[in-house]
Amino acid sequence: MSIEVRGVNKSYGDFVALEDINVSIPTGQLTALLGPSGGGKSTLLRIIAGLESSDSGTVEIAGREATHLPPQKRNVGFVFQHYAVFKHMSVAKNVAFGLEIRKRPKAEVKAKVAELLKLVHLSQFENRLPGQLSGGQRQRLALARALAVEPNVLLLDEPFGALDAKVRKELRDWLRRLHDEVHVTTVFVTHDQEEAMEVSDEIVVINEGRVEQIGSPDDLYDAPANPFVMGFLGEVTHLGGQTLRPHDIDVALDPLAKGAISGTITRMLRVGFEVRLTVATDDGADVLVVLTRTHARSLDLAEGARVWLSPVAGATSVRSMVAV
Ligand code: ADP
Ligand code: MG
Repeated sequence: MSIEVRGVNKSYGDFVALEDINVSIPTGQLTALLGPSGGGKSTLLRIIAGLESSDSGTVEIAGREATHLPPQKRNVGFVFQHYAVFKHMSVAKNVAFGLEIRKRPKAEVKAKVAELLKLVHLSQFENRLPGQLSGGQRQRLALARALAVEPNVLLLDEPFGALDAKVRKELRDWLRRLHDEVHVTTVFVTHDQEEAMEVSDEIVVINEGRVEQIGSPDDLYDAPANPFVMGFLGEVTHLGGQTLRPHDIDVALDPLAKGAISGTITRMLRVGFEVRLTVATDDGADVLVVLTRTHARSLDLAEGARVWLSPVAGATSVRSMVAV
């Protein structure tokens, strides 16, 4: 394990920001800290980096007890949402900076800078100032700078959060490929479930200062620990006291399935290749059902039709927290 966080608590006054956090971050993997805004992700990342101290608990980095080490002794690279590059230094100088203050030989610095700029696809911009780069290029520069000193772990706090959707998506693919090349243990904070699902090997879901679940993107999607995780990672609806995915509900025109719940289609919406139904069940709930256009057509569904709903075999489900 590259990072071991054990029993970490952190309060601001009487507000509990983190409560008994236990997380192991495997070496060489890309791990996402995912959760809604205000959940404590940045606080945890800052405690790992040494930029914030915990009230109790310990942090170990690369096998070394680090709880009371200052940030500069932890050998971590850090990239924030807002680019912290030196505005008056060229792209190449920015990347060289960390190596120069460590007094590495000139030839080594030169080679390392060239290698890193190639890795982040900024070689042709080495003489530009950061102000002459796009937002996405500046974040790639920030990453190259963080990687220059060969950190044990790379900590990224919503690094693409300030960029527009298209650039974010490009950088997300790029980060995945970069990680496949350099394999540095990386912790990536995001509130965007799609971003976390696409880039990470493992996801730690954090909500209201607590870890809700830890697992691979598939684990979390297919076997969510609770309604919160299930709802955060994808669309959900409620049927007969269970939280289900809307595409995991079978629609029948007769009450053949055992325990099927009857209702009336109150709304039918075609969106691309799918059809989204709202079914008002006879027990007074609104259930969302998603099926393919072909399937809806084969059933000849229409608003006002009577239908019977039941979970498909093998549906992902958790018991709802509130009775419905
Ligand atoms: P996230 O990164 O998941 O959005 P944060 O870790 O930034 O969440 O914050 C978690 C909670 O702790 C928030 O409610 C935030 O307002 C609070 N918080 C964070 N830093 C401080 C601070 N320095 N003083 C007081 N409250 C803070
Ligand atoms: Mg944050």
